[in-house]
Amino acid sequence: MSFDLVVLGAGPGGYVAAIRAAQLGLRTALVESRKDLGGTCLNIGCIPSKALLASSEHFHFAGHDAARHGIRIAGLEVDLPAMMQRKESVVKTLRGGVDTLVKRNGITRFHGTGRITAPGTVEIRGEAGHETLTARHILLATGSIPSTLPGIEPDGNTVVTSTEALCFEAVPDRLVVIGAGAIGLELGSVWGRLGSKVTVIEFLPRIATGFDAEIATQLQKSLVQQGLSFHLGARVSKVDVAGNGNGARVTFALDGREESLEADKVLLAVGRKPFLGDTVDPKLGLVLDERGRVTIDDHFRTSIRGVFAIGDLVPGPMLAHKAEEEGIACAELIAGRAGHVNRDVIPGVVYTFPEAASVGIDEEEAARRGIPVRIGRFPLRANARALASGWTSGFAKVIAHAETDRLLGVHVLAPGASELIAEAVAVMEFGGSAEDLGRTVHAHPTVSEMLKEAALAVGGSAIHVLK
Ligand code: NAD
Repeated sequence: MSFDLVVLGAGPGGYVAAIRAAQLGLRTALVESRKDLGGTCLNIGCIPSKALLASSEHFHFAGHDAARHGIRIAGLEVDLPAMMQRKESVVKTLRGGVDTLVKRNGITRFHGTGRITAPGTVEIRGEAGHETLTARHILLATGSIPSTLPGIEPDGNTVVTSTEALCFEAVPDRLVVIGAGAIGLELGSVWGRLGSKVTVIEFLPRIATGFDAEIATQLQKSLVQQGLSFHLGARVSKVDVAGNGNGARVTFALDGREESLEADKVLLAVGRKPFLGDTVDPKLGLVLDERGRVTIDDHFRTSIRGVFAIGDLVPGPMLAHKAEEEGIACAELIAGRAGHVNRDVIPGVVYTFPEAASVGIDEEEAARRGIPVRIGRFPLRANARALASGWTSGFAKVIAHAETDRLLGVHVLAPGASELIAEAVAVMEFGGSAEDLGRTVHAHPTVSEMLKEAALAVGGSAIHVLK
C-alpha cells in the first residue's frame, strides 16, 4: 500500500499529526504497536493520573476540608477498585473518541510495530503478519519511556515506574518516590492523599526543576502540610528488594551521610528518555544527539530523506501539548503549508494541589540572560474568589521586560493554575505587555483576577494589595 504520510506512533504527537495531515488531503496511515491509540499520555500517563488526582483530591477534601465548609462526613473510606474502575472508564471513553476521529478522518490504521527499512519504506510486523508500506513521507512519533538509575531496575512490583503506580491494587503503607519532578509530585500526591506515608527523595536541592524557584518552595510547603516528606540534595545509590519480593530498603547519600528508608513500594520517577526501539534500520544512519534525541532541522526533518520526527523523540520539554503542536506544524509543512511552533511559549504544569503552572522565563533565567525585568506578584489569599473557595496557599508572578513591558514569563501557584495559565500563554503569543494583561477585564470574583493584579503590580498599580 502506498501513502503520502505514514505516522509511526499514535500518541498525542502522532495521532494529531495524522488527523491534521488527513484534513489537508494527504493519504495518511497511522501505525501503532499498542492495541489502543493515544500513546503514553492517554493510556498510562497524563489522563489516568489526572483521573486519580481528581478522585484523591475529592477524598482529601472530604477528610480534611469539608468540615470547615460545614459538611460533616461519617464513615469516609477509599474504595480503590471503584476509583481505578472510574479511571479506566475515563481512559476508555477518550480512547473511543480518538478511534472515531482517526476513522472519520479517513486515516488507515495499522496495528503492529513499524520499522523504516529504507527511505520511503515501512515494514509492519503485527499479529496479522507482515505488511510493507511505501510512503512519500514518514513521521517518527514513537515517544519516550521511563529512565532508570544505574543498578536500580524496576521489577514492576516493588520498584515501579509511573505505569504501575497508576494501578496499585492497595494503598501502600510506605511509598518512597525517587525524583521530585512532575511524575513524582503528582503520583506522590495521589497516594499520599489516599493514606500512604510518602517520602520523596530528590537529587537536586529543590523540587519541580524547570519551575520558578519561589513556586517550588511554596509548593513544597503545601505538600509538606499535606503530609509528604522530602529529602532534597539526596542521591539514591541503591534499592534492595526484600527476599520475598515485597518491600525494599532505599539507600541514599544526604549531607555526606548514608541514610536508608524502608518502603512497601518505590516509585522511580527520574525522567524519561526518547524511545525508538528498532524503528529505524541502523544502516540508514539516523543522527541522534548526545542524549539520544533525534536531530531535526527547523522543519522537523531528520537526517534520513523524507523522514521527520516530533514530540518526546526530539529536543524540548517532554510534554503532550508540545508534541501535538509539533505534529500539527509538521503535517502542515509536509502538505506544503507554513507550520511553526513557538518554543518560547510552551506552558508547563504540575497537577498537584495547588497546581504549579508556568510559561516563559523565570527570574533566574532573566538574570542569566542579562534581561532587565520588572516583577509583579499577587498572593492568592488576597483574591476574593479563592478565599470564598477556602484556598489561601499560592500566588501569581508576572515578569515583564523592564523597558518595553513585554510579558516574558508568568508563574502561578493556585488551584486551577493549569487553566489560568492559558490566558498568559495567549497574551504572550500575541507579544502582549504586562499592562495589556492588567487592563484586560476579568470577571469578578474569579481566581483569574490574581493574574490581572500581578500584571498591574508590575507597574505598581495593583488594587487589592498594598505596595
Ligand atoms: P523530571 O525530569 O521532571 O524529574 C525527575 C527528577 O528526578 C529530577 O528532579 C531529577 O533531579 C531527579 N533525579 C534524577 N536522578 C535522581 C537520583 N539518583 N536520586 C534522586 N533524584 C533523582 O521527570 P519525571 O517527573 O519522571 O517526568 C518525566 C517526563 O514526563 C518529564 O519530561 C515531564 O515533564 C513529563 N511529565 C509531565 C507531566 C506534566 O506536565 N504534568 C506529568 C508527568 C510527566
